[in-house]
Amino acid sequence: MLPLNPALLSGEDYLFARIAAAAAAEQLRCPHRPVLSLGIGDVTRPIAPVASEAMRTAAAELASEGGQRGYGPAAGYPFLQRAIAARYDGLPCPVTPAEITVTPGSKEAIGALFSLWDCQVPVWVCDPAYPAYRAAAEAAGHPVFSLPCREKDGFLPRPEAVTQPGLIVLCTPNNPTGAAMDLPEMTCWVRFAGESGSLLLVDTAYAAFLTGEALPRSIFAVPGADRCAVEIGSFSKSDGFTGVRCGWVVLPEKTGCGAAWRCRLGSHSNGVSYPVQRAAEAALSPTGLRQRQQALAVYRQNAENMLHAFRQMGLTCAARRPGCEAPYLWVRCPDEQGSWYWFHRLLRECGVVCAPGAGFGTMGEHWLRFTAFGDPRTTAEALRRMTRLFPAKA
Ligand code: PLP
Repeated sequence: MLPLNPALLSGEDYLFARIAAAAAAEQLRCPHRPVLSLGIGDVTRPIAPVASEAMRTAAAELASEGGQRGYGPAAGYPFLQRAIAARYDGLPCPVTPAEITVTPGSKEAIGALFSLWDCQVPVWVCDPAYPAYRAAAEAAGHPVFSLPCREKDGFLPRPEAVTQPGLIVLCTPNNPTGAAMDLPEMTCWVRFAGESGSLLLVDTAYAAFLTGEALPRSIFAVPGADRCAVEIGSFSKSDGFTGVRCGWVVLPEKTGCGAAWRCRLGSHSNGVSYPVQRAAEAALSPTGLRQRQQALAVYRQNAENMLHAFRQMGLTCAARRPGCEAPYLWVRCPDEQGSWYWFHRLLRECGVVCAPGAGFGTMGEHWLRFTAFGDPRTTAEALRRMTRLFPAKA
């Protein structure tokens, strides 16, 4: 057998595959008690009616005489590039439609981006963070280093921790901690990247969960970011597209990476399907954005109920900045036992799935992540079951 890519042979399954396997085993062990998931961050609200309608219309168009579109442009249809670029209007760094690439989700984009640079370029990844960053960077052959995100720093990374220039992956608001950067913090990172010759890869998958004006939704709110930052966005969590698959990359020409990116796109991608791009365009229309808010309100209410219930159970939740309504609660384990221990106890004793913090990095140990993306009734039932393990205080 030919040697396989060693980065794919760590022996450990992807975190969410491990969680799903444990949940399935518990369901077999206890078939009469449905396992309830506050684990994987998957959406439960329907997609916006206007997006669904746009998909239906586009599918009918493809089936009509003369409506065949063949392969689409690898970087996305101009109508969607324009709609996405318009979201950046008014920021200090203008974003043009040509700098937008539509992708089949942000996970795919993250994997593709790591192939743009020489594999000796170091990649700096927050700890704790969405586990796909490290896995994708390692699979592309990059050396990967951790950027600790400590509780005393509000779970945000600090530029001083970066000891050699490289690709620096940031996510705001962060999964799993819900930490969100303010403008001065983003400005610090842009200055640092510019001075050190680094490049920021900024994941904004949860930007729609920011409210008010205090916290920026894009790195391009910082003047000069278009020389040293690439941004990744997603319709998954904001518009219920986790299964529909649509995201985007903003790769400013001033970064000098455009030619390599176009070369990669040309040889690796045939873009995202036409109906999906029409649905994404509709999701960004005024009606789509209004319908988005209805779904987000459900998740926000879940998060509020969870916060209240956890506090009553005597559990400590990481503080969140005003204006950040990230759909995850980051909860400290009740004692010195590790996060996998508490994951298994919750699963076995309550039939409730969470995500163990250690799965997001070593700094995530002793924390648990709970998602607010659940159906409200399921979430309420999961919270009720948890009081068996953590009796609510009067
Ligand atoms: N980025 C972060 C921080 C995530 O948490 C996730 C999914 O959970 C993704 C990206 C992937 O999203 P997508 O569905 O767009 O691939």
